[in-house]
Amino acid sequence: MAKVAMITGGAQGIGAEIARHLSKDGFDIAIADLPGQKDTAASVIKEVEGAGQKATFVALDVTDQAAFTNAVDQVSNELGGFDVMVNNAGIAKVDKVEEIKQADLELSFKINVFGVLYGIQAAAKKFKQLGVAGKIINASSIAGMRAFPVWATYSATKAAVISLTQSSANELAHDHITVNAYAPGVVGTTGMWDEIDAKMADINGKPLGQNKADFVDTIPLGRTVEPNDIANMVSFLASEKADFITGQAYAVDGGGLL
Ligand code: NAD
Repeated sequence: MAKVAMITGGAQGIGAEIARHLSKDGFDIAIADLPGQKDTAASVIKEVEGAGQKATFVALDVTDQAAFTNAVDQVSNELGGFDVMVNNAGIAKVDKVEEIKQADLELSFKINVFGVLYGIQAAAKKFKQLGVAGKIINASSIAGMRAFPVWATYSATKAAVISLTQSSANELAHDHITVNAYAPGVVGTTGMWDEIDAKMADINGKPLGQNKADFVDTIPLGRTVEPNDIANMVSFLASEKADFITGQAYAVDGGGLL
């Protein structure tokens, strides 16, 4: 019987690549994303099925605590188990510190922090119910490890993810549940970055594309991160090779934090 992995925000970008990798590792896959992402998720589901694994879409807004519990129940009933939870869904809002809007702050914390905590809770409950030594893997960012101009809101949410990862790893270790995080550097190819680049160009008065170019100049390995680089890390953290690793946050950034 195949193990089951659920990936929030799995319809596109990094989450979709994680789904592809984990399916190649032999996991059946549940893609949890906003209801409007069902059509986008369909092509990823086809690829997973092409790899010989079962796949399903579950409509979920990660900011809804009760809905998260129901979604995990649904996935475990439909796919016949529950082994790995990837709390990948996230958004980014950029602004100068003194211009941060309450609405952006609230939405960022609701999705990036509350959504991750609800995912940890729902997965931990299910793992305990099934008696599974499950793995929880959370999306942080190098912005949660270091300061970048105009990224204060996002940085605060991603630092909170590292803190939640450490605290829950500590508590859940008694049940042999591990909790780790991945911290991507600049991934130039996802939906998130397009919006940010335009907004940063607005704030800095730099031409569109220059902000990303500035970031790339700081990366010792000389290129932006590919979703594939992140998915390789998640694939490792979801595997038995990572059984004795918990409470850690791994930067995957081409050496940008050096
Ligand atoms: P993306 O914008 O391409 O995809 C995000 C996905 O999350 C989308 O499918 C979206 O529908 C989903 N989502 C958003 N709000 C949701 C909600 N309330 N409920 C359920 N799903 C929701 O982003 P990405 O670049 O693939 O980023 C994935 C993760 O990696 C995020 O947590 C992000 O913060 C983190 N990250 C990305 C970068 C980068 O450069 N792209 C860098 C560091 C960290």
